[in-house]
Amino acid sequence: MFNKLVIASGNKGKLLEIQTMLSPLSIEVVPQSDFNVPEAPEPHCTFIENALAKARHASLATQLPALADDSGLCVEALNGEPGVQSAYFGGTPSNDVNNNAHLIKTLDFHENRAAYYYCCLVLVRRHDDPQPLIAEGVWHGSMLKEARGSNGFGYDPLFLDDMTGKASAELSPEIKNKVSHRGQALRKMLHLIEHLTY
Ligand code: IMP
Repeated sequence: MFNKLVIASGNKGKLLEIQTMLSPLSIEVVPQSDFNVPEAPEPHCTFIENALAKARHASLATQLPALADDSGLCVEALNGEPGVQSAYFGGTPSNDVNNNAHLIKTLDFHENRAAYYYCCLVLVRRHDDPQPLIAEGVWHGSMLKEARGSNGFGYDPLFLDDMTGKASAELSPEIKNKVSHRGQALRKMLHLIEHLTY
């Protein structure tokens, strides 16, 4: 079993959630920026292909096992958009402010506010690992018309958690990790890692 894992992401929000949830493992978890690995291209139309590409890219560059997250917000009224394009929905410069503003505008006249977050995690032990570990998570909710809360990142101020009636950005990090798409996927990934035999 490995004792060091590279996280193939430069997204600070994701990194914090992943590092927090992997802390029970006796594995050193290091962001790819510590090795000066640049962001990998994400040319694919599926989350899983993008996650695999990012994990392989980081593993090849560092010669270490790597874990990647590809995730996004899928809105029912937009036929699943922004989906894999979630990070770039608001055009350039691609950032959370532009993405959220564009989403509010796009959904302006839509009655159906249902949406979900999706997360696909892929772990490769080496860049050409024939058996990557794969874990998914889905978090259902609905889209708000105005931003609420200041926690989290990305679309969190606009995403209402159906169970608690709070925006994701109003949830504490602990609660978000309990219920979120990434939290679900990370718990499954922890289980897969714990059962690795080599
Ligand atoms: P990726 O880096 O291509 O996987 O882009 C993920 C994008 O999806 C982020 O930049 C956010 O816009 C959005 N996203 C994914 N997970 C979350 C989350 O937990 N909260 C808010 N936005 C998220």
